[in-house]
Amino acid sequence: MSQPTAFAQEKTDDKTFNVFAESFADLQILRYQVPGFDELSLQQKKLAYYLSEAALSGRDIIYDQSGKYNLLVRKTIENIYATYKGDRTTEDWQKFKTYAGRFWFSNGNHHHYGNEKFIPEHSFAYFSKLVLNSNVKAFPLNKSETAAAFLTRIKPIIFDPAFQPKLVDLSSDKDNVVNSSNNFYEGVTQKEVENYYAQFETKGEAPSWGLNTKVIKQNGKIVEKTWKVGGMYSTAIEKIVYWLEKAIPVAENAEQKDALQKLVKYYRSGDLKDFDEYSIAWVNDTKSRLDVVNGFIEVYKDAIGKKGSFESVVSLKDLEATKRLEAIAKEAQWFEDNSPLMPAHKKKEVKGITAKAITVIMESGDASPSTPIGINLPNADWIRKEHGSKSVSLSNIVHSYNQSSANSGVLDEFAFDPTVKARIRQYGDLASDLHTDMHECIGHASGQINPGIDNPDKTLKNYASALEEARADLVALYYIVDPKLIEIGVMPSIEVGKSEYDSYIMNGLITQLTRLKPGDNLEEAHMRNRQLNAMWVYEKGKADNVIEFVKRDGKTYTQINDYNKLRTLFGQLLREIQRIKSEGDFESGKNLIENYGVKVDQALLKEVLARYAKLNVKPYKGFIQPKLVPVMNGTEITDVKVTYPTSFYQQMMEYGKEYSFLPVMN
Ligand SMILES: [Zn+2]
Repeated sequence: MSQPTAFAQEKTDDKTFNVFAESFADLQILRYQVPGFDELSLQQKKLAYYLSEAALSGRDIIYDQSGKYNLLVRKTIENIYATYKGDRTTEDWQKFKTYAGRFWFSNGNHHHYGNEKFIPEHSFAYFSKLVLNSNVKAFPLNKSETAAAFLTRIKPIIFDPAFQPKLVDLSSDKDNVVNSSNNFYEGVTQKEVENYYAQFETKGEAPSWGLNTKVIKQNGKIVEKTWKVGGMYSTAIEKIVYWLEKAIPVAENAEQKDALQKLVKYYRSGDLKDFDEYSIAWVNDTKSRLDVVNGFIEVYKDAIGKKGSFESVVSLKDLEATKRLEAIAKEAQWFEDNSPLMPAHKKKEVKGITAKAITVIMESGDASPSTPIGINLPNADWIRKEHGSKSVSLSNIVHSYNQSSANSGVLDEFAFDPTVKARIRQYGDLASDLHTDMHECIGHASGQINPGIDNPDKTLKNYASALEEARADLVALYYIVDPKLIEIGVMPSIEVGKSEYDSYIMNGLITQLTRLKPGDNLEEAHMRNRQLNAMWVYEKGKADNVIEFVKRDGKTYTQINDYNKLRTLFGQLLREIQRIKSEGDFESGKNLIENYGVKVDQALLKEVLARYAKLNVKPYKGFIQPKLVPVMNGTEITDVKVTYPTSFYQQMMEYGKEYSFLPVMN
């Protein structure tokens, strides 16, 4: 997965569509358009509609996965927002609104990026007033529970920062399972979970054990509760299946039909072998214009990287941007052969990397409101190796980001060299597109694990995610200054690559710090990987002054003095991280992350936060989803219109009403 960096490129756009919606706390809500939707056939529009409903039907799951009390809190917030009879013009009400917005944005009460718990800025007394002056009966009360008892019960869940303080706790000195407050495990220690999964075969074509279950202890024994029809989350999954089954008859071709049927089979059985069958069928569906990701996919919310968060992304192929990706994918073998990896770690035959750019139609679960800008699936290494993978970049989302960052002032504040600034203004958009393309398409897909070595989630454990992201970034960084890109027609000059180096180093060492608070170190996998890459090349290139920190008027900047040597260093680090992955060398992986990717210079952080605060831009962005509205003639759908809601709050309330399929406790 790729994520947007804190530093986005600037570009002007003359479209009249307003990308901005609400903003609050550290969040900016944006909107995106779905160009090309109106030209789809009626059958394709129906397919898009059914898949979008399937996506939204799973929305409750991500809340519950992110914390066992999240649905309780969400329904409480929704009821206050809908029925509070008191004054809605006060400062306290604004604070409540901000809390509600943050909660919806994060699918729970832990920051979507930093993972720390957030609490309302108003008092508990005010909260009590809100509850008592709302429709009390509509709160998720226990049987014969009074409002007072309800308040006592919910108080620590909402207001105590020490209760479930972290969604994902990756501290090396703690039990990461016990101290992470996600809802993937209960009553079990990390050791117990690791021992439990150690009994499963993980070599060869083994399924991703544990991907679709919650692990609990029953009568002293470890058991898994499977997320499937008839299992945990059944009421939501039944709805997903209902819509998928409507989608099957309007699928575009046999391959797509096959994939959707296998997805339904998996949701019914909960068998991970069925999931792999589905994933293979999904990889083979390359000709369809529409596509969907729907399932328990990414494992970032689990400290030990086993449990998949529900997500769905419904999309249509962006034909123009896909040409660029295809040009890169076509040369995948050349990139593999010419990479700085040790010969034994290179894939002899890079298989079927299907790269395309997509126009997002609907996102849900883990992919919303905050969204990736690139996706490479499936995650199972053996399927990627045997059957290939699909790599997509989310064109219309990236376009929206670019529009929103135009003239934000970030570039002027954090870059000082006019040449560097001009280069980023000219080539920054293309550079970041190319970086994402290569990260997804030749990055994750490259390299191979030595025979007999386990998968990285077993060998590299809690460092696997950050190391894998670092590896994919490094492939992109190594090649972005390669004349090969000019030769295949995707880049006009090496200047594009240089602008990416400038942005990446600036972001990895300075601008991404804008996402932290004083005292913080880095926790999130993508942030760790970016600092690791940038800090490692800075340290290793120190003797040759490849990169330096320069001071101007008390402000710190990064400056690259030798772009060629920098490329060589990126190549060396890529080779080392691939070695670590190929050999399953936990100690070396741990040392890389802990030494370069975690610690933050607190004096620099303080300076950066002060500079950033003056710009008054929000470090995080997320999206309102479009709305697909079927035009009906009796029971027949005759057309589907796409509309673009303007209020995030309104959409969240609407979703709460329309797609609320799970009980508050699961
Ligand atoms: Zn990635």
